[in-house]
Amino acid sequence: MSQDYSKLLQPLDLGFTTLKNRALMGSMHTGLEDRAKDFPKLAAYFAERARGGVGLMVTGGFAPNVEGWLSPFGSKLSKKSEVKRHLQVTRAVHDEDGKICLQILHAGRYGYSPLCVSASNIKSPISPFKPRALSTKGVHRTIKDYANSAYLAREAGYDGVEIMGSEGYFINQFLVTHTNTRTDEWGGPFENRMRLPVEIVKAARAAVGPDFIIIYRLSMLDLIEQGSTWDEVVQLGKAIEAAGATIINTGIGWHEARVPTIATSVPRAAFSWVTGRMNEHIDIPVVATNRINDPQVANDIIANGEADMVSMARPFLADSDFINKAAAGKAESINTCIACNQACLDHTFSGKRSSCLVNPRACYETERNFSPTNNVKRVAVVGAGPAGLSAATVLAEMGHHVDLFDQASEIGGQFNIAKKIPGKEEFHETLRYFDNKIKETGVELKLNTPVVANDLIGAQYDEVILSTGIRPREISIEGADHPKVLSYIDVIVHQKPVGERVAIIGAGGIGFDMAEYLVHQGESPSLNTAAFNQEWGVDPAYQSAGAYQLPQPEPAARQITMLQRKAEKMGKGLGKTTGWIHRAALKMKNVNMVSGVEYQKIDDLGLHLSGPNGETKLIECDHVVVCAGQLSRRDLEEELVAAGISTHLIGGAKLAGELDAKRAILEGFELASSL
Ligand code: FAD
Ligand code: NAP
Ligand code: SF4
Repeated sequence: MSQDYSKLLQPLDLGFTTLKNRALMGSMHTGLEDRAKDFPKLAAYFAERARGGVGLMVTGGFAPNVEGWLSPFGSKLSKKSEVKRHLQVTRAVHDEDGKICLQILHAGRYGYSPLCVSASNIKSPISPFKPRALSTKGVHRTIKDYANSAYLAREAGYDGVEIMGSEGYFINQFLVTHTNTRTDEWGGPFENRMRLPVEIVKAARAAVGPDFIIIYRLSMLDLIEQGSTWDEVVQLGKAIEAAGATIINTGIGWHEARVPTIATSVPRAAFSWVTGRMNEHIDIPVVATNRINDPQVANDIIANGEADMVSMARPFLADSDFINKAAAGKAESINTCIACNQACLDHTFSGKRSSCLVNPRACYETERNFSPTNNVKRVAVVGAGPAGLSAATVLAEMGHHVDLFDQASEIGGQFNIAKKIPGKEEFHETLRYFDNKIKETGVELKLNTPVVANDLIGAQYDEVILSTGIRPREISIEGADHPKVLSYIDVIVHQKPVGERVAIIGAGGIGFDMAEYLVHQGESPSLNTAAFNQEWGVDPAYQSAGAYQLPQPEPAARQITMLQRKAEKMGKGLGKTTGWIHRAALKMKNVNMVSGVEYQKIDDLGLHLSGPNGETKLIECDHVVVCAGQLSRRDLEEELVAAGISTHLIGGAKLAGELDAKRAILEGFELASSL
């Protein structure tokens, strides 16, 4: 694999300071920003990433005043007394030769707070609170608050600030008419609506002087109806440059947009084209963002002139050493962000501390650690799924002797099924990472090796770890053995032919993935930006305001009915930030979703059931695919324990309910580091 990252690794001269490369770690709210007591952890988190070589980092959002809170008593920088805690962060970063900007984020009507304000008193569709419309005086006061926050950021030792002007937050709410119906000088014609961000940048520049970075995050694509037009976006970009910004970063999509913008099903660098368009109009450096997780993709964006810098956020959660590894020509050892959102954004939106599915140390740098052992043990790990891979590689890194067994011919367990789902192609990266890590750490990998207890008894292992995963739950209704009944393993692993009319029993994560698998044919839209744009209504010609038009999905390859016994809304247990995408994608393919059913029998005609109101129904179908959950596979445990062997269970083998790769990898890490 050729690894030319010369453009990405090239320094960027900003006049008064130079960034050591073109990689920006984009802003992420980790949950460590909200309380002063968490700042030592926040400092360690940023220091580790500075050590990893990234050119510039941006903190999570800090409100310039109480009205701008994301949530009550959330992160804010508006008082001198709040400066001191930040010094821990900036010192730690500077000690590692890094640079860091503080993001100033006023949530506007997205604030989860009764005190929230906006341009007008129009409630957002994704927030329970109706905002108060700011008075004219209130707008002037808010501009001063931004400037004050920027000034305090400088006092706190930051290298700059990022002013958040995108994703539908406060500033965005002034820019478009459907959220700004004001009649004063801050509403009406675009010149008035865009005055707020321009005045904010001017005031911030006046407060901090010329030698301080001001990044402005410009909403280049709103992806909502009645969003900004392209001419408006360019007009604003030029005005922001003239007002004194140092760098323009790209913002993609309001939070209320019905287009996925960072989920794993979004193609890599799907939106860099819009930054490229803006770059033609702007002289200061411009930054491309969204779904960039690979050094070659990042390098190419700069090489082809679309941007001067590339922002990656979650990829630095997944691997703090991303840039050092790229610079050393070891890209194959990067732990790649798979854009699942499961441990980062889903946590943020549930009020939990962020971490990372593939890297449980993220945001736990002072807590989840291990060191070389001085008591080397012989450990057998049975099962090379996510749990076993995580445990085996941590143990080997500590210096233990590890034998890792799997009956399959490849590592990865169920990830080998997941990676075949359209939109989950990134899962290949985790397997590549572990494959490399096994070699780096010296794990003895033994594939095609089904293990029975007797293989381990008497083999002189100090510890045995069972990471043998799960077996699919079978259903026990009449006709469960009918030839038209298939398991998800039959369909995805054994590639058994599937007819045009399909009923899916079970609507958990795997039921949804199965529906996705069966409605698609041909190339996955996640690998083709043009197909993705058409599927979701992104208008790259920018003929519509907000660059959003009616989606034109490809017709479904099959007619699918999804079923569950619970009466609740389907997909309730899916990820907080991605569940809506799965539901919307399947609705666009006319998938029929029926909750509250009772299964009766399967015969030549199809699946017989009683519906939510007790009515009997026949789902005529060619196949019934069973995705009815999973049961732990822990066959070896009893014999090993009886033989007196120190035996540990992790992942699906420990508990099948609520299992996902996040838990499996974390359990592997925690067990290994405790042995
Ligand atoms: P497994 O992955 O099941 O691995 C167990 C391994 O043990 C297997 O390789 C098996 O061959 C081996 N084994 C078993 N018995 C023996 C034996 N006696 N000897 C030798 N080897 C043995 N999770 C997410 O978090 N996010 C997702 O988006 C996601 N999508 C998914 C999509 C699909 C279609 C599927 C099927 C799963 C998905 N999952 C997802 C679930 C995730 O893959 C599992 O939670 C995770 O793989 C569990 O890890 P594990 O290591 O416990 O078990
Ligand atoms: P799951 O999420 O527990 O869903 C199982 C489904 O089967 C439910 O819809 C359940 O609904 C149904 N069911 C349970 N027992 C049944 C029975 N006896 N007969 C008929 N139906 C039954 O499990 P899964 O879909 O197998 O997924 C396994 C794990 O992988 C999950 O824990 C999930 O988190 C993870 N995963 C995650 C993702 C993701 O995107 N994050 C994707 C795929 C998988 P009713 O009981 O209401 O019928
Ligand atoms: Fe990326 Fe998933 Fe980790 Fe978030 S949890 S950083 S999306 S791999």
